[in-house]
Amino acid sequence: MSHLRENFYRHIAQTSESPIGLEIEQAEGCYLYTTDGKRYVDLISGIAVSSLGHRHPSVIKAIKDQVDRHLHVMVFGEFIQKPQSEFAELLTAHLPESLSQVYFVNSGTEANEGALKLAKKHTGRSRFISFKNSYHGDTHGSLSVTGRDIYRDPYKPLLPGVEFLEFNEPNQLGSITDQTAAVIMEPVQGEGGVIPADVDWLKSLRRRCNETGTLLIFDEIQTGFFRTGTLFAFEQYDVIPDILCLAKAMGGGMPMGAFVSSPEIMKVFKYNPPLNHVTTFGGHPVSCAAACANLKTLLAEGLGRNAVKIEKVAREMLHGKGIVELRGRGAMLGLQLESNRLTKKVVEKSFHQGLILGWTLHSDTLIRIAPPLVIDSKLLRESFQIILDSVESAL
Ligand code: PMP
Repeated sequence: MSHLRENFYRHIAQTSESPIGLEIEQAEGCYLYTTDGKRYVDLISGIAVSSLGHRHPSVIKAIKDQVDRHLHVMVFGEFIQKPQSEFAELLTAHLPESLSQVYFVNSGTEANEGALKLAKKHTGRSRFISFKNSYHGDTHGSLSVTGRDIYRDPYKPLLPGVEFLEFNEPNQLGSITDQTAAVIMEPVQGEGGVIPADVDWLKSLRRRCNETGTLLIFDEIQTGFFRTGTLFAFEQYDVIPDILCLAKAMGGGMPMGAFVSSPEIMKVFKYNPPLNHVTTFGGHPVSCAAACANLKTLLAEGLGRNAVKIEKVAREMLHGKGIVELRGRGAMLGLQLESNRLTKKVVEKSFHQGLILGWTLHSDTLIRIAPPLVIDSKLLRESFQIILDSVESAL
C-alpha cells in the first residue's frame, strides 16, 4: 500500500467500509487521472458538481485573478466585495423578480439550514412539511427534513414538527396548514432515485402554500445550473419558490452555496437581534469569482442544450435486458436495474473499464448518471456502450 493510501485510511475520517479509493493525480475536462497513470471518465461530475468539466479555463483564470487581489477579508454581509456583488447581480438577473437577494454560504446543507431558519422567523411558525425519500443534507436541520429514517434514526431527537408526505401524491396536501412555516422539496428528487415532480402536483403544492401562507422552499442543490436542461428545474414547472437553495455546481468546483429569496422575506435576519444569522466564510471571494465565471460560461456556451442532448442519447441507447427504466431530466439521470447484485456488478465492471458511475443514497438498484455538461457526443456514446456491455456481461 502506498504511503498516501496508508495515510488516507489512518488519518482521514472514513465514511464507509468501502471508499472508492482512487488516488487522484489530476483532473481535467471529463477525465480523472490517477497516480498509477490510469484515466477515468467522470460520469457523475463529482456528484453533480463539475458541469463545465474539471478545471475549466474560465474558472481557473477567475480563481487566479481573485487570489492576486484578496482572500477572506470579513464575515459575510459587512464589507462590499466585488466578486460577491457581481455574482449576485448575474445570478438574480436570471431569476424571477421576487428572488432578488442572495445569502451566500459554503455548502448545500448550509443553504437549507438558512432557508429553514428564514422561513421560521418570517412566518413565526415552526412546523415543516417535507417528502419521503428526500435528501436535504446532513447537518441537524437539513437532516430533520430528510425523508429517510435509516439516516435520521441514529441522530434523534431531531427538529420537532416535521411531517413527511408522499412525493407526487395530491391527496396529502391538506397536511399543509396555517401552522406550517414551509414546505421543502426537490423538483427532481436526487438521492431518492432521480424522480421528477409531476407538473400538476407541484402547481397544487404551490396553491396550497399560497392558501395557508406557507413558504415554498425549492432545494435545487442538485438540479440547479442547467443540470436538468434549464438553468433551474423550477422553470420547467411554471412554479416560483419563495426560497431557492443552491450549491454543488454553483462554484464551478469551489465550495459554494446560497439561498435566494425576496428582500421582504430576507429582511428578518437584519433585526431582533441584528446579526442573527451570520457566517464567517459564506460568499468567500475566491468561490464567488469562480461561481461568476462558471455561470457566465454555462450561459455563453448554452450548456442547457447539452443537458437535453445527453438525455436524448441516453434514452436512445440505455435500454434492454436487465434495465428496468431510465429516469430523470436532462443530465440528471438514473438507470434502474433489475437487482442490487446487477447494479453492483455493473458499477464495478464499468469502473474497471475506466468509467466512474455512482449510486444514489436511498437506492441500491439505481445507477446515477450525471456527466459534465461539456461531454462530447463521442465520449458520451462510448461511456454508455461501456454500461451496456457491463450489463450484458453481468447478467
Ligand atoms: N440537497 C440536495 C438535493 C442534495 O443532493 C445534497 C447533496 N447531495 C444536499 C442538499 C447537501 O449538499 P452538501 O453535501 O453540499 O451539504
